[in-house]
Amino acid sequence: MNVQEEILQTIQRYQTIIIHRHQRPDPDALGSQVGLAEILRNSFPDKTIYQVGGPVEGLDYLAQMHTVTDEDYQGALVIVTDTANAPRVSDQRYDKGAKLIKIDHHPNDEPYGDIVWVNTQASSCSEMIAAFWSDHQEILKMNKEAARLLYAGIVGDTGRFLYPATTATTLRLAADLLDFGFDAPKINRQIDQISSSVARLSGYVYEHLEVDEIGAGKVILSQELQQSFGVVDSETSAIVSLPGKIEDVLAWAIFVEQPEGYYRVRMRSKGPVINEIAKRHHGGGHPLASGANAADLEEVAVIYQEIQEAIRQA
Ligand code: AMP
Repeated sequence: MNVQEEILQTIQRYQTIIIHRHQRPDPDALGSQVGLAEILRNSFPDKTIYQVGGPVEGLDYLAQMHTVTDEDYQGALVIVTDTANAPRVSDQRYDKGAKLIKIDHHPNDEPYGDIVWVNTQASSCSEMIAAFWSDHQEILKMNKEAARLLYAGIVGDTGRFLYPATTATTLRLAADLLDFGFDAPKINRQIDQISSSVARLSGYVYEHLEVDEIGAGKVILSQELQQSFGVVDSETSAIVSLPGKIEDVLAWAIFVEQPEGYYRVRMRSKGPVINEIAKRHHGGGHPLASGANAADLEEVAVIYQEIQEAIRQA
């Protein structure tokens, strides 16, 4: 029995299923979480299916969360999507159920759960959920809302089919989802849309990005700067991909100063592997898209040097 069959059989055995995802959710976190929840509600109307976690931070056009009590976890099956390590699970009661399943597409550096399905070849966790449905259509029933959510997750994590993780399977599954008739141009537009403040910050990023002769890029967004542009950390997700549009840039990092004084590091690459750097600095992620933390400007400089080194080695 493969892991997908094991997960399906486990789902069929439980009456209450609670689905979690990571903190600071992106479209793939919410898409995979609530897309799966919708499929399960549609397929098993007698079961109670919850989607839980903290604030959805500007992504309320995708989904809302449910409120659950500690008692709801008793005897329940818990599924966590799109979350590589347990400390990042939003709502730490995820381990209070009777059984725990991890479904994810990040490298499985910190396994957790009784059943683990990790596919690092998948563009997104939403693609994995779409494949799960596609392979078990006799039991799992898709609907328009689930398709919308999963499509949003795939679009979010592939940069609208731009990044190398996009495969023929990704496109086939996205096409199957489109057949359910949701408004795809609308969701594309919602994901692409930025506020005027973020638009002005984009101008700053392009003007102040430092790029060395081998294509390593960096920009630092201090607290003072974020305040002057009227943006908060969660909005910086919209500007992380911008340096990649520049032809000379091969790998880059955006250092976002936090109110506590440390820097959240958002790293991206067009080829050189950067997640090993992230792992050395309290982070992790995919080979070409990772996140880390720098205690101060000294560590910021070290991370930038390590990006330069990764480019030289590639
Ligand atoms: P971000 O720049 O926050 O969009 O993150 C890019 C990728 O890196 C995502 O796939 C995250 O899962 C991963 N990531 C970000 N921050 C961390 C962290 N502190 N620890 C582990 N993985 C992270």
